[in-house]
Amino acid sequence: TKETFEHIKANEDDIKAFITLNEDAALKQAADIDQAGIAADQLVSGVPLAVKDNILTKGLKTTAASKMLENFNPVYDATVVEKLKAAGYINVGKTNLDEFAMGSSTENSAFFTTHNPWDLTRVPGGSSGGSAAAVAAGYVLGALGTDTGGSIRMPASFNGVVGMKPTYGRVSRWGIIAFGSSFDQVGWLTRTVKDNAYLTALIAGNDEHDTTSSLQAVPDWAANLNENTSVKGMKIAVPKEYYEDLNDDVKKVVKAALDHFESLGATVDEVSLPHTKYGVPAYYILASSEASSNLQRYDGIRYGFRAPDAKNLEEVYVKTRSEGFGEEVKRRIMLGTFSLSAGFYDAYFNKAAKVRRLIAQDFDKVFNDYDLIIGATGATTAFKIGAEIDDPKAMYMNDILTVPVNMAGLPAMSVPAGFSDKTGMPVGLQIIGKRFDEQSIYNAGYVFE
Ligand code: GLN
Repeated sequence: TKETFEHIKANEDDIKAFITLNEDAALKQAADIDQAGIAADQLVSGVPLAVKDNILTKGLKTTAASKMLENFNPVYDATVVEKLKAAGYINVGKTNLDEFAMGSSTENSAFFTTHNPWDLTRVPGGSSGGSAAAVAAGYVLGALGTDTGGSIRMPASFNGVVGMKPTYGRVSRWGIIAFGSSFDQVGWLTRTVKDNAYLTALIAGNDEHDTTSSLQAVPDWAANLNENTSVKGMKIAVPKEYYEDLNDDVKKVVKAALDHFESLGATVDEVSLPHTKYGVPAYYILASSEASSNLQRYDGIRYGFRAPDAKNLEEVYVKTRSEGFGEEVKRRIMLGTFSLSAGFYDAYFNKAAKVRRLIAQDFDKVFNDYDLIIGATGATTAFKIGAEIDDPKAMYMNDILTVPVNMAGLPAMSVPAGFSDKTGMPVGLQIIGKRFDEQSIYNAGYVFE
């Protein structure tokens, strides 16, 4: 743990992965474990790990990278944090993100932008950019992220690390600062597939505090990965929509990965997910609608920031929200409120909900005949800081290959598959599975370990 903090301090001025470091408490906890010894039933006893700053940690500042929660100290732990505590983890600190997890580059953080450890002039992706950078920089073996429309997978791809978004309902959302509740899932960014499988099992399972959390038993995915793990006989579908429009450098890496699967005895066929192109517009309507509702609670009364000079109740609301939220968050609240308003509900929200159903059906059809759907995680590698921040639509289009998965509630992982011959940056392969079949995803990803 001591070395972890030394490593962080030597690099953090350049990378800026953390909003809050938990050094004193972490060192004390490590010393206590040295004294008492590792408890056999504590599966990550003494292992330094990091937590995205939209996940509640009791007594440790949790900001969602928003001015609104700049000094917010939760009075309880998220269920995932409770489980990690019971397993003996050491929380190194809270990682940077796009404000309220809205973004694809970490540039929407109210505090600072995180830099990609592979190339400091590039973004780490987002919204879990701090977690991805913390793992890529070698600070920690694993960092928790959240994924509403790609926020675990996309930064994993940009940073050459493994990132798994489990099936919707696999992991409790209790204590996660809500963004789009019907999309949000918690998961890990890790260096290896096996670590990911091991750590995901630790946080998964039913939780009485989250009625959408599943009763399905949690398999020991990691134990099932071993020297006999094979993709032989697996039926892999490659959607042409996830392949055709890729940048050439990304395409090359994906092609090589698919060839590798074939050489190991998997079959690889081209299929179509015809509604893919409607995913981004529909997602941004639906997720923003849910966000506009979830973010009502930041009213200057209940949490965190309150505008200091408000003269009456109306001004408390208006000034607090005007000053407390950043530009992107306001954009989403306006878009969502508009889509849900009486005159526009059918034209926007309802229509987008229908598109969501069609996208889910696209996946169902393919999964009738195939075990996995594989393509790229992003059409490009990590872009330069500043390149897209003034063009929200360009930024949204980065999510074209990741949001359909959240629309359908499926599990998907980004696994590093190689490097771009153009930018030298890592390229992630996205492996999508059937609901609750994280095992097949881990098995296929393990091929690259
Ligand atoms: N980039 C997407 C968005 O801005 C996804 C974010 C996420 O998954 N939290 O909404």
